[in-house]
Amino acid sequence: QPLIDTENGRYLGAEVLVRWPHKEHGLIMPDQFINIAEQTGVIQSLSLWVIKNAIQTLKRWITVKPDFLLSINISASNLQDENFLRAMNFLFYENKDLAKNVILEITETQVMSDTQSALKNLWGLSELGFHIAIDDFGTGYSNLAYLKKLPASELKIDKSFILNLESDKQNQVLVHTAIEMAHNLGLKVVAEGVESEKSRIILEEMGCDMCQGFHICRPVSVDQFEELLKTHG
Ligand code: C2E
Ligand code: CA
Ligand code: CA
Repeated sequence: QPLIDTENGRYLGAEVLVRWPHKEHGLIMPDQFINIAEQTGVIQSLSLWVIKNAIQTLKRWITVKPDFLLSINISASNLQDENFLRAMNFLFYENKDLAKNVILEITETQVMSDTQSALKNLWGLSELGFHIAIDDFGTGYSNLAYLKKLPASELKIDKSFILNLESDKQNQVLVHTAIEMAHNLGLKVVAEGVESEKSRIILEEMGCDMCQGFHICRPVSVDQFEELLKTHG
């Protein structure tokens, strides 16, 4: 799914959203299998499979747009796993330069349930050159001052604040405040769940850097995205 520059609509990047095309059950959405993958430990190989594929795709897309940013969701158990950092080092060994085109998304709740090893892994990933984004911001109990201690460079405001932005004055105040504070702390801000042009305009007026949502484009296949990038990149 594309992430656009709020002001001019150009594609700045994309978020990788995994789907499981099943012979009998059709397309299975991540909400139906990520949790199970986490509980069963399959998440480690699933994440690395996603990342391996993402690297191949990204290599093609940066030939069209060298500063393209690909966001990849990382699960809490990846951060807890001491082998994850080693695996990332290995996967990017021949493409070290590519790390600067990758944003690893971790949710606010994952960071809050931190352990020393999760924080160590996060800093290790940042040292390898990956950007870190805080996903689903606003759904947990963290404050921005705490988040500033993390190596994050981007904040993604949760879609529950954005979906009804045009009609909900309270959410407008919360989103505006979050954007101002994040900017003052040197973080870029993404709004996800942008479903109307009105919301995009409100977010533009608030100075939100990037937008993502059905109004701009629903999640599409890699091939479809490649076509879109040619005209919107
Ligand atoms: P997320 O990281 O918060 O991803 C955004 C979700 O919001 C996606 O759902 C996306 O399709 C949906 N979305 C985007 N724009 C809009 C909008 O305008 N309106 C509405 N109502 N929804 C919108 P999706 O693809 O079903 O993914 C659900 C969750 O599954 C993701 O939430 C993420 O936590 C997880 N996930 C997806 N892919 C991966 C993956 O490769 N690895 C891991 N660990 N988790 C993944
Ligand atoms: Ca995400
Ligand atoms: Ca999110």
